[in-house]
Amino acid sequence: MAQQEEVFKKIVSHAKEYGFVFQSSEIYDGLSAVYDYGQNGVELKNNIKRYWWDAMTLLHENIVGIDSAIFMHPTIWKASGHVDAFNDPLIDNRDSKKRYRADVLIEEEIARLDDKIEKEVAKARKRFGESFDEDLFRQTNPRVAEIAATRDALHERFAQAMNDNNLDELRQIIIDREIVCPISGTRNWTEVRQFNLMFKTEMGSTADGAMTVYLRPETAQGIFVNYLNVQKTGRMRLPFGIAQIGKAFRNEIVARQFIFRMREFEQMEMQFFVRPGEELKWFAQWKEWRLKWHKALGLGDQKYRYHDHEKLAHYANAATDIEFEMPFGFKEVEGIHSRTNFDLSQHEKFSGKNIKYFDPELNESYVPYVIETSIGVDRMFLSVLCSSYEEQALEGGDKRVVLHLPAPLAPVKCAVLPLVKKDGLPEKAREIVNDLKFDFATRYDEKDSIGKRYRRQDAIGTPFCITVDHQSLEDNTVTLRHRDSMEQTRVAIADLHRLIHDNVSLTSLLRRLG
Ligand code: ATP
Repeated sequence: MAQQEEVFKKIVSHAKEYGFVFQSSEIYDGLSAVYDYGQNGVELKNNIKRYWWDAMTLLHENIVGIDSAIFMHPTIWKASGHVDAFNDPLIDNRDSKKRYRADVLIEEEIARLDDKIEKEVAKARKRFGESFDEDLFRQTNPRVAEIAATRDALHERFAQAMNDNNLDELRQIIIDREIVCPISGTRNWTEVRQFNLMFKTEMGSTADGAMTVYLRPETAQGIFVNYLNVQKTGRMRLPFGIAQIGKAFRNEIVARQFIFRMREFEQMEMQFFVRPGEELKWFAQWKEWRLKWHKALGLGDQKYRYHDHEKLAHYANAATDIEFEMPFGFKEVEGIHSRTNFDLSQHEKFSGKNIKYFDPELNESYVPYVIETSIGVDRMFLSVLCSSYEEQALEGGDKRVVLHLPAPLAPVKCAVLPLVKKDGLPEKAREIVNDLKFDFATRYDEKDSIGKRYRRQDAIGTPFCITVDHQSLEDNTVTLRHRDSMEQTRVAIADLHRLIHDNVSLTSLLRRLG
């Protein structure tokens, strides 16, 4: 784990050094858990968004997009339950004065017990070698059974406390498990309190009696309150979906792990409206489709897992997370929720408007049920970045840092490099740039040795470098260098467009989704 933490630190500084992610307001010493995306970061982020948007709206003829405002009528948040129930349980350590989420402290304790079990299994695997029967060992080893029993009991107690919103019990679990503050090492804990995560601000001048409004903590509500507008104007029939990408804001108690948990972040959410009673079928379908979308990127199938929820949010009747293996463990990147008809019914109740759907096939009106897929752009960005980063030792003792970004997501698709800065090579290189730039993010670079220029492109994950040399002037060929293999092939300038396109187009990725 320590080694993984080292790698993560390197990734964070790499992200800064190469213009992917900067701390917000850095020259004023930063603003905690707020980040800015730099020149390469914004391109990568846009490509992720484009991949999601196209997968939703091009591949499904019954999904359309919207872009709703961040500010919404404050009653919406009353109706959705966010004013009363969008809370995190927080606890302070009196010695370090550090604040924690009580649920996260307990979840980490459960993860430690899981780790212990895995260590026992790993030890036994080493001891028994070839003949090791892992399933049998897990079932019969007394030490493993003991840890598993403790873990399960803790988990059950925790789930119960969360379901009951029992703050005293959460504190008691922390005390009973002797969980210490990682900073002070003490168990000097305060009571557990509820903390609402929504940011508030005021709209209108105070003289007129300003209205308290919230920065939206999720984009979903903008979809719910527009669902009938879209259904009617788009002549949509159930089942249909509405997709949206936009900023969301949460006053997170503990800001950690770089862009994993931010106070201002971006979500890609899709609400899929279905007939009541069909929601679990669609939930299973979206679980499968969404994992396929992730896996098509080729970051490694073993890096994903589902995590089904036991504690369901107040609105859900089934929920799962897609978790990704970050350097700091498996973490939620996307949530898939069967939200029942909770939100729409609430809006019907609070607004006093009829927002039922008339089903022409059944000849009846009802409030649709909803399946939600909700993914954080920034967490997706982090998973792509972390799994792409590699420090490679090269032959001859050389080293390079390379980002093996999926080519369709790479900020720059190709760099055109004249071997030397004279003899007409720069002019020839510019001609190539001027041809390719209409279809691909193309860079021109003539500064420093060719080796250094390759390294610079590797570090930002550029899939192709095109090198123009003296032979290019004679026969209109160039070398095409592939980022991952570093293999160089001689190709005709006339073929460049096709060769690059085949590799970097989003279409190739979308086709994998069928
Ligand atoms: P967590 O348990 O990590 O706080 P959540 O379950 O509250 O997350 P959801 O409300 O399901 O998250 O939000 C959907 C998605 O939005 C998450 O899967 C995640 O990718 C993203 N997300 C949520 N909170 C943040 C945050 N503070 N910073 C970045 N992304 C976030």
